[in-house]
Amino acid sequence: MPLRDLAMLDEATFDASNVRVTDGCVVLHGSVVDCGTSVGTARLPVTLTVSDAVDVTVDLAGGTGDLVLDRVEVTPTTVTLVGVVPARVVVTTSVQSKALLEVGTTPIAMRRWGRWRPWGTGGPVVLDHRAILKRLRTSTCPECGHPWSEHSTDPDESLTMCSECAYEHDHGETPPGATVCFARVPRALVEPRSAFARTSPSDDPPVDRGAPAAPSTGRLFRPTVSSLREACAALAVGMVSTDEVSALAAELVAAGHDGESLVALASLYSGAATADALDLTRAALVEAGVRPVDLEGEEVPLLALRVACHGFLLGHWTLRAFSSWVHREIGHEGPEAAQQLALVDDELDELDHRHIAVGPSFRRAVERLAVEYIEVTEEVAHPFPF
Ligand SMILES: [Zn+2]
Ligand SMILES: [Zn+2]
Repeated sequence: MPLRDLAMLDEATFDASNVRVTDGCVVLHGSVVDCGTSVGTARLPVTLTVSDAVDVTVDLAGGTGDLVLDRVEVTPTTVTLVGVVPARVVVTTSVQSKALLEVGTTPIAMRRWGRWRPWGTGGPVVLDHRAILKRLRTSTCPECGHPWSEHSTDPDESLTMCSECAYEHDHGETPPGATVCFARVPRALVEPRSAFARTSPSDDPPVDRGAPAAPSTGRLFRPTVSSLREACAALAVGMVSTDEVSALAAELVAAGHDGESLVALASLYSGAATADALDLTRAALVEAGVRPVDLEGEEVPLLALRVACHGFLLGHWTLRAFSSWVHREIGHEGPEAAQQLALVDDELDELDHRHIAVGPSFRRAVERLAVEYIEVTEEVAHPFPF
């Protein structure tokens, strides 16, 4: 495990109960927050070792029982660990010693969108951000030709523009035909080599196709039962009409699905009330053995946004129509999974304000967010039968 300097670490917290001298050493176990890892801010396991120890005293009076390390004081015969909240561990040493911090590279948790979440992949991360920066400086973004180091690596900021492209824009030096680049740094460049095998090819940035995605004639709803759940949510927020949901039900019937409520929904008169169509849709889902949409909870915005993403990716909605819908209907207080997309409208305002044209690169960045959103909410769309 790499040795680390306390100054580079935050919230080094140790369990200070049962501290004793074993084999001439005092060892404390705990965790630290490291902001400079390849995945951003992570909580990592840490051990603190003082060698040449002969005795140790622990004073936790007035504190919480944990030692949140503020500083280490060394004299020729002691190493004193001083806590932020009252906590003091004094190690008496036979010679002048020091406190060695060894930090594990497999996070306990990582911080995303302001919250701690468990570290999913179970793999190690790169601790020394300088090594990554060097890699980024020596490799080039295929979209704009600038070094990757000009692009943000913060996973929370997916819509960050290339700072060199922004500089060129601000100084009127944008090459003819070029637009500001919003490509995302490939994960392979910021992860430790051993994690390469786990990185799926879809994480790589799309190559520049030179033009925005062509509008497609694809349909918003495929005739499946999970589409009916999405349609129910879309209807609840007024994104689609009762006629569209009724048409989907008719397709399901034609595809061989059955059920009294489904048939009633399929034959609903044109312009029927939303409440009636919602009741029938929920009943049809129950008949199909699927949990109906919870109209009160987060399920409605989560599912409706999936429909909006499909509509945007299929070219039914313009970028601005999509982003302003998300901003208005989901907002910054909405479900966490939707927050990246809720920010797109603010980013567009910012680009307008700076007179930066929205190029294909920005559009692709938003398409990537929409695709990711659909992936991470797959479970909401296909719930287990109840
Ligand atoms: Zn670029
Ligand atoms: Zn660039």
